Amino acid sequence: MYPDTQLYIDGQWRDALAGKTIPVTDPATDETLGQVAHAAAADLDLALAATERGFKIWRDTSAYQRAILMRKAAALLRERADAIATTMSQEQGKPVAQARVEILNSADVIDWFAGEASRTYGQIIPSRARDVQQQTLKLPVGPVAAFTPWNFPINQIVRKLSAALAAGCSIIVKGPEETPASPAALIKAFADAGVPAGVIALVYGTPAEISEYLIPHPTIRKISFTGSTRVGKHLAALAGQHMKKATMELGGHAPVLIFDDADLDAAAKELALAKFRNAGQVCIAPTRFLIQQGVYEAFVEKFTAAVREIKLGNGQEDGVTMGPMVLGRSVDAIEAFVQDAIAQGAKACTGGKRVAGKGNFFEPTVLRDVPLSARAMSEEPFGPVALLRPFASYDDAIAEANRLPYGLAAYAYSRSVATVNALGRDVESGMLSINHIGFGLPETPFGGVKDSGHGTEGGSEAIESYLETRFVTVAGR
Ligand code: NAD
Repeated sequence: MYPDTQLYIDGQWRDALAGKTIPVTDPATDETLGQVAHAAAADLDLALAATERGFKIWRDTSAYQRAILMRKAAALLRERADAIATTMSQEQGKPVAQARVEILNSADVIDWFAGEASRTYGQIIPSRARDVQQQTLKLPVGPVAAFTPWNFPINQIVRKLSAALAAGCSIIVKGPEETPASPAALIKAFADAGVPAGVIALVYGTPAEISEYLIPHPTIRKISFTGSTRVGKHLAALAGQHMKKATMELGGHAPVLIFDDADLDAAAKELALAKFRNAGQVCIAPTRFLIQQGVYEAFVEKFTAAVREIKLGNGQEDGVTMGPMVLGRSVDAIEAFVQDAIAQGAKACTGGKRVAGKGNFFEPTVLRDVPLSARAMSEEPFGPVALLRPFASYDDAIAEANRLPYGLAAYAYSRSVATVNALGRDVESGMLSINHIGFGLPETPFGGVKDSGHGTEGGSEAIESYLETRFVTVAGR
């Protein structure tokens, strides 16, 4: 049973005013699963008016009370995790077990931001006169518009939603049309927990139409986008034109640096999981594997063996560890990247082909000796392909790691204290994980530098971009 998805506006689940819908496709079978409502300007006007009212209610709700409702939503999400995981697997393709992990992690994100609600401290600033008190207040920035993709249908929303709600902002979420039902289940948990009407809206439609309408609208004070760098640059420019705050979580092309003194068994096992999780459709997925010459052959062998263990199939079948890609066009894109790399001299150690028949399946693929001229070495593949090549020296590895305009995630394995200390300074990325896979916890920063965007969606700084600082100075007369 797969549910159709309606819009959520002003506390009501409803069809689009014009009755328009978009079909939702099962990426494992190509069959139509159901429909999602397609909002037009008239629906967005209702959402905007409601979010304006919702903001006034929510900013005047105490942080303590906001946190209680958020924790209730987290508890409901945990209770419903099994049912939502099946829905997510149907529409997104990922194995049910991985969907369940995403949902439970999302509940942790809500709890963590619920705690942050009561930590939005201002300052008392020593004054120059005895009777003057100078203080800063941290106030919610106002109604937020959030735009989120289909790779982690719930997790991509929950970070923006929870930070906004903790800060006292209302929010309109433009969810992913490809995977709409699991986001609706997330929003339902908040509605059932008692978050007042108007505080949250969920809309779907034509992404560009919605962003072009919401971002310039005077009601919206802040935007947050997760998706490609190309779209992110466009939306950031639009936000800049209208002087709106913007958080941008964009594409990546994560380098992985394996040094001669690395624990190769751990690296091969952990990186195979991290690379092919979610069929490689992860902005922080390890992508360019740079391996020091002395251990190149050994790592290629161990990593390939670990990748061969992956079981590709329909995410709802037992034992499957990698599902289909979400979009048919992504399979075409990955096939083109792989064929181009092979034509330029790369060799496939395993995989390399799309799977014939129904569904968007592409084999987990390891390419070795990939030349720098291969397109995939510079453009984000965003799929199940690992690109391996050797390096000679530390400086060579750093130069290649920093060659691209991206700077989201990076990984390294080395037992040398000197090497790992230097990496922390030298690798240009928002996040660096050394000797394990350690990203994505609610309490740690999540964000990029360079073309990978700006702002963080985790850690104690994440709530900052949903707040503004007001300076108040008072003379006691
Ligand atoms: P795309 O750039 O067309 O779309 C990416 C996301 O942005 C989708 O969710 C889409 O609905 C949304 N979007 C597109 N145009 C928009 C607009 N004008 N206004 C608001 N939202 C808009 O790319 P795609 O082919 O769908 O996905 C592949 C690429 O997207 C990847 O190469 C990757 O860089 C990026 N992506 C990144 C993440 C991430 O986690 N950072 C997630 C999904 C996709």
